[in-house]
Parts: sequence; structure tokens; C-alpha cells
Amino acid sequence: MAERLLSQLVATWTQQTEVGFILGDPDAPTETRLIPDPATGVTFRLRWLPHRELRTDPHELERRGILNPERDEDLLFRDPRDPSGLHCFLCPQNIAICHPAEALVPVRAGGREWLAGANFAWLAHNHFTVLTVDHVDQVFDRSVLAAMLEIHAETSGQFRVVFNGAYAGATIPWHLHLHATTDAFPIEDLTPGREVDYPAPLRVFPDTAEGEVVRYVSRWEERDPEHHRVNVLVAPWHGRAAVFVILRDTRARNAAAKGLMGGWEVAGDFAYSEKRKQFEAADLATVRGALAEITPPAVRDEKE
Ligand SMILES: [Zn+2]
Repeated sequence: MAERLLSQLVATWTQQTEVGFILGDPDAPTETRLIPDPATGVTFRLRWLPHRELRTDPHELERRGILNPERDEDLLFRDPRDPSGLHCFLCPQNIAICHPAEALVPVRAGGREWLAGANFAWLAHNHFTVLTVDHVDQVFDRSVLAAMLEIHAETSGQFRVVFNGAYAGATIPWHLHLHATTDAFPIEDLTPGREVDYPAPLRVFPDTAEGEVVRYVSRWEERDPEHHRVNVLVAPWHGRAAVFVILRDTRARNAAAKGLMGGWEVAGDFAYSEKRKQFEAADLATVRGALAEITPPAVRDEKE
């Protein structure tokens, strides 16, 4: 079982690259800046990924065969709560209409049916968006954590799994989704015991502490349901699987020196596709400052 999902996902990524569904060349070397942080043992990673800019250019996506130029906009499902009026990018039936070349891998995890599709505007190697078959809200609960842990375990610990809270990295709050990638995150090198020195509020739990993680997240969200969210990462940590939880607040979703701070950034991985000067100028103080800037007001108040 363990190897099957891993090989299916890797084979799908390769196939999607070969047919031109993946922007840029994920196999080419990526311009990378590494910034070691002696306080935590983490080496922050900054990467220049200009291909991501193409994701907002429908004509270029159509030209490349990524977006179907003959899609019937009237057939697309739109969540009535979405003020933009755009269709849901994550509904499988919308994907079939808009991106017929996209291959979706069925995944059963956490008692739910999911589909994993290669992210054409990838942030990492083997970067998949794992979305629920059903159009349900982006809410973290026990079944979502179980799904994350199962996907990690069923890929022999190769795929890291990310959950971004709504408006805390996730820009589509109406369709439950995860991200998965085989690239290691900088935060995996965090020295045990140094969690308090990480610039964003972080707790790390063993993969066996499912109940504790769920209670910790619920307590945080219940304190201020309107604003309190989390980023959650399941990844290897010093030889075993761990659950990294970063406390977030929808009022502190951006950092001046980076922009939107999502699951990648809070795990120490800063991707730039524009703002070349920011990419070149960032140093340890910039990165730590950006992570400290998204500290929720409630956590900030407790520290003072
Ligand atoms: Zn949807």
C-alpha cells in the first residue's frame, strides 16, 4: 500500500510534465538563496520561480493547452459566497471542463475521497493540490489531520502535507484542499527544544498525538472564530513523522517584505515570482521579521 500512492503521484507528475501541463521546467536548477538561522538550526530557503507569474495569464495558459479555450463558462459551478463571481478552481467537475489535460489521482484518506492534481504553477517538486471530491469548506478537524497523516504514511514519508487555514494562506476557503510535495521544508531542520526561538508561533507534536493536536487547534480557533486560523504541516522531523502547527490570524496574513504568507513561508520556504529586488535583498533579519510580522495579535499580547 505504502509504495503504491507514492509511485502513482510521482508517475503522474512526470506524465504531466511531459505533456506540458507543468509551467516552467521543474527539473532545471532553481535559483536559490540559503540563509542559516543559528537560533533555530533552520536554514531558510528563498527561491526564484518566475514561471508562477503565468498562472494569472489565461491567454498564455490557453496557448499552452493548460486551460481549455473552448470551456463553457455557463457550466462552471460558482460558490454563491464568492464575491469575485469566479468559478471554484477546485471542484473536480470544473477542473474537467477547464483543464482536460489534468490527471487527478484518487486518494482515500481520513475517511474521505480526495483527488490529487499536479499544480501547474508549482512551488516545489511533485507539488500536488489534494482536493476533496465534494465542495466543502476549508476547515481543519480530526478527519483532515487523519488524511494528512495517512497521505504522509502511505507515501513512505516522502510526501509532506500542508493545510492552510482560510485567509491564512488558503485563498479558496470554500473547497477543502491540502498541498503535498516531496521537497523537504526548511523547518524540518528545527533543533528540538528551539520551537520558542522560531519567529512565528510554533508547536511541534509527534504523529501519535492526533487528539492533542486537534484540541490545541480547536482551543485556538474557538478563542476567536472569526480570525483565528492555523497552518499545519505533516513532515519528517529527526527520524519520525511530526505535526507542525503555526498559529495564524486572518488580520495578519501578509508580511511587508514578502506578501501573502502561506504554508510554504511559515515553514521557512520563501518563493518569489516577481519583486526580484526583494528576493535579492532579503537577509536573515528580513526573513525572521516577515515570520514575526504574522504573529497573531492574541499571541503578541500574551508576550508583552
Ligand atoms: Zn469547489
